[in-house]
Amino acid sequence: MKIELFQTERLDEIKEFFGELIFPSNLNCIGCGESIWNKNPYSLCHSCYQKLEFTDQVCKHCGRRTLLGTSCFCQSEHYYFDSIDTCLVYNDFLQKLIFRYKYGHQTYLSRFFTEILIQKLNEKEIFYDYITYVPIHRNRMRERGFNQTQLIAEMVGEHFSVPVVEFVTRTKDTPFLSSYRPFQRMLLVEDAFEHKEIEVQPKSNILILDDIVTSGSTLSTVSKVIKKEHDSLRVHCIAIGNARV
Ligand SMILES: [Zn+2]
Ligand SMILES: [Zn+2]
Repeated sequence: MKIELFQTERLDEIKEFFGELIFPSNLNCIGCGESIWNKNPYSLCHSCYQKLEFTDQVCKHCGRRTLLGTSCFCQSEHYYFDSIDTCLVYNDFLQKLIFRYKYGHQTYLSRFFTEILIQKLNEKEIFYDYITYVPIHRNRMRERGFNQTQLIAEMVGEHFSVPVVEFVTRTKDTPFLSSYRPFQRMLLVEDAFEHKEIEVQPKSNILILDDIVTSGSTLSTVSKVIKKEHDSLRVHCIAIGNARV
């Protein structure tokens, strides 16, 4: 693990201790609301914890879950990112949590998603120079008030002391992609993003965060826009939920 916590670990413990006194985070399960012990993992009761399905085996080329290893039958498919990984299967339980977070204004759930991502990133042997996220269009920003993925990215960046940078903007307000087939999604997002003028060190590693990966087309398009401007960068993607088709 090359990402270091530096000496802030002790400070974080102290902040955590006093924070817990004022704002106890884990007294109720974030899944069902039942009272729990405040050391339960991810602030979940035993029954809700059992509903998390970790995606241990994921093809790093396309993001599909595999039975064994990090590659599958997708070698003829092209994606612009260098690797992709996911944390959890996008099952009913995770779908409800993400829905509550994104549309129910339950921002405290950001802590759960951040913990899940940190655990996955701790398993990786990559040092990330920058963290970024999939931006939302200004119309969605007006509806929701903020970009939920950006909030998680900021928390992950703070944990690893890695700067969070917006590399692209969303110039097209695409419809919800879930009802479209993969090739249609690719067409819809193809020109949805534009790069921003950013100075970066060549050959840096970038991590793009997203909430759910379905066809991989959004993450591939964002990677393409980034690489078009900065062709020496290596772009890695991570999504919380895996709904890969
Ligand atoms: Zn529960
Ligand atoms: Zn694959």
